[in-house]
Amino acid sequence: MAIYQYRCAECGPFDVSRPIGTAGSSETCASCGAEASRVFTPPRVGRASGSLGRALEAQEASAHEPRVVRRVPEGPRRPAAPADPRHRRLPRP
Ligand SMILES: [Zn+2]
Repeated sequence: MAIYQYRCAECGPFDVSRPIGTAGSSETCASCGAEASRVFTPPRVGRASGSLGRALEAQEASAHEPRVVRRVPEGPRRPAAPADPRHRRLPRP
């Protein structure tokens, strides 16, 4: 679904939700019943919500505003020891 904007001469702009590609050039105004012409705007397709939405926003923001690091992040420098003791017997490079 996409949101299309129409403008009634009497009541002003209003939005109509229609499947993509099915919006006509005019729509009946819900308030006064007059014919309202379509206003062409950038598509406002529903944005993903939840964790996907946050990940997409973070990805988009990092393209324009990369995080600046002033010092090396703290934390373990070596990976934690493997939980399985047999991993210690594996050949090392
Ligand atoms: Zn109207």
